[in-house]
Amino acid sequence: MKIAPGDLTQFTIPSNNSRLCVGVERLDNAGTPEKPSDGSNSPPTVDDIPVALRETPDLPSKPRTNVALLVGSLTALGLVALAAGGFVALRMQRSQTVTLATENPTSVAQTSPTALPSASPADTLLNHFAYTEAPQAELAPIVPDGSIKMRQAAAKAYREMTAAAQQEGVSLVPISGFRSLADQKYLYFDVKADRNQDATERAKVSAPPGYSEHHTGYAVDIGDGNTPALNLNPDFDKSAAYRWLKANANRYSFELSFPKNNRQGVSYEPWHWRFAGDIQSLKTFYKARGQK
Ligand SMILES: [Zn+2]
Repeated sequence: MKIAPGDLTQFTIPSNNSRLCVGVERLDNAGTPEKPSDGSNSPPTVDDIPVALRETPDLPSKPRTNVALLVGSLTALGLVALAAGGFVALRMQRSQTVTLATENPTSVAQTSPTALPSASPADTLLNHFAYTEAPQAELAPIVPDGSIKMRQAAAKAYREMTAAAQQEGVSLVPISGFRSLADQKYLYFDVKADRNQDATERAKVSAPPGYSEHHTGYAVDIGDGNTPALNLNPDFDKSAAYRWLKANANRYSFELSFPKNNRQGVSYEPWHWRFAGDIQSLKTFYKARGQK
């Protein structure tokens, strides 16, 4: 599923004349459910010992009290009581764990109003995951003319990252950020028609509308201002911009969406980075998507 450089999606979109890259999504690991916290086994209370003692068979009926034997018996009985108490506590904890485990899915579903409705396990198309469009009100520009936008938190991190790179002589240039459904419709269907590609063939290099990470406002395609010939090309990973990103992007909560040999088997896109630095973006990209 590698893209030949000549097959890259580089073209012009009518709205803002930005060159746009393919938009594909990646299968990510679902987080494992949290284990219920360990309840501390409450030790048996002091009252347990006399009760156990009363139920014990007869002590040796010597007229002369053997103190050592009595102390030994009491100790043994205490240990039995402790063990019994611990067993009861363990059973209680187990049943509590089962209760928590069975309640968990319901409570998660009820308390996650911010989860994207698209996160249902089966919501994939041609290997791409569904994403909803970010609300316009949550977008902020990442270029002076405002033609490229990201979600506010992502935009802020992106601007900081670009400034840091600049201080080291590296020129990060945004090529595409948020994309609407209409943008993606053009990318997928119109270009597909122009190139006489079938649906599967097209999906290898471009996600269908509704299935691109760019809809979320968290994804950005980054080029190198000093070596533009490498932009939107697998050889972008030979650029100074890419080397800098590999060494530093995580500091700004950006990560590569589609590394080489990614599990979903989508094309390698060294230019396509996504923000995962707040709870909403984490939910968007990491919430369970039907994996075990
Ligand atoms: Zn992209």
